[in-house]
Amino acid sequence: MEVLSPYKEVTDVILEAGGEPLKLCYQCGLCTGICPWNTVRSFMVRRIMHEAQLGATNFGSEDVWICVTCRACVQRCPRGVEIIDVMRAIRRAVASLGIGVVPDALRISAKNIAGVGNPLGEEPEKRDDWAKDLGVKKFTRGTEILYFPCCIPSYDPDVKTVSRSTATILNKLGIDFGIIGTEAKCCGEAIRKAGHEEIFQSLAKSNINTFGSNGVKTIVVSSPHCYHAFKNEYPELGGKFQVLHITQYLVSLIDQGKLRFSKEIKKKVIYSDPCYLGRHNSIYDEPRKLLQSIPGLELVEFPDSREEALCCGGGGGRIWMDTKKGERFSDIRVEQALEKGANIIAVACPYCFLNYRDSVLSMDKAETIQVKDVSELVAEAM
Ligand code: SF4
Ligand code: SF4
Repeated sequence: MEVLSPYKEVTDVILEAGGEPLKLCYQCGLCTGICPWNTVRSFMVRRIMHEAQLGATNFGSEDVWICVTCRACVQRCPRGVEIIDVMRAIRRAVASLGIGVVPDALRISAKNIAGVGNPLGEEPEKRDDWAKDLGVKKFTRGTEILYFPCCIPSYDPDVKTVSRSTATILNKLGIDFGIIGTEAKCCGEAIRKAGHEEIFQSLAKSNINTFGSNGVKTIVVSSPHCYHAFKNEYPELGGKFQVLHITQYLVSLIDQGKLRFSKEIKKKVIYSDPCYLGRHNSIYDEPRKLLQSIPGLELVEFPDSREEALCCGGGGGRIWMDTKKGERFSDIRVEQALEKGANIIAVACPYCFLNYRDSVLSMDKAETIQVKDVSELVAEAM
């Protein structure tokens, strides 16, 4: 395990933790202007960069844990500063040196992930239970596709509908796929952005080993966070696989004439771009093409969508932290969806699912608008 030195100057600690990009910042402030937090509270991204340059970072500030890693600022920065890497480095310094305080909820999730391989603290032996009655086989060497549903659709009773719908679709289409539940662990994407690099490295090495020893070549995922980790982060540790988000895979099946719809869904549906599918990986068209292929479905757009889409508030480990009423981006999104007259918010990410579901319930709008994963809508229309 790589250990940061507590005896270095603050700036050196941040640089050593991966904060090199901060050297490029010339203090224009465009990042602060675009950061969505400033619509609900003050969050001075430029100042955080400046304090890190000066060695004046306040590791005890709540600001260390605010960034949702949505990438809106990185997209805007004229100097190409990878601001998320700097935020991650500051968090990493706190988590490894014991300076400042890791929020309680994040500390518990990190402990669960390190201990049992999932943030919910559930038993690894139960990771496959969601698929029990669906006739899904275990992945064995030679199986074409590994379906990796993410920890939340594996365990959360309300979000299992995502994994179950996906397996139902793949079964109906006769796709040769399998799952590796009990040996698999959290992908580690979010815990890495929350500053726990050692946990990420351990999870990634374990998953790479499991996938490699089972002969996995192609992985289909439900979560953009798993997609990002497997596609962009595991290769640096030797894990090279073909990775497809479920929306990409299902569109390829439409193009091949294998996936067709026989039922109408006469609803007004608004699609929310997940940050890790959109801004992080430029996948905007496939989810829309999938939804537009469903007969009867009317697709509408948020006032800010695609590259400009507002985050649900769950990235960067924020999914495990409390966000005060009045500061929840998902509440703003639900309001926008209602203004557009949508009946359904379509999501393509388990974190979006959780946040929108909670917002709809806490805003007492469950009678007016539903939250559904794209896979649920596809399964319903087949
Ligand atoms: S937009 Fe880029 S260069 Fe400008 S203050 Fe932010 S990080 Fe620095
Ligand atoms: S990544 Fe998003 S939340 Fe984080 S500082 Fe940039 S704009 Fe703000």
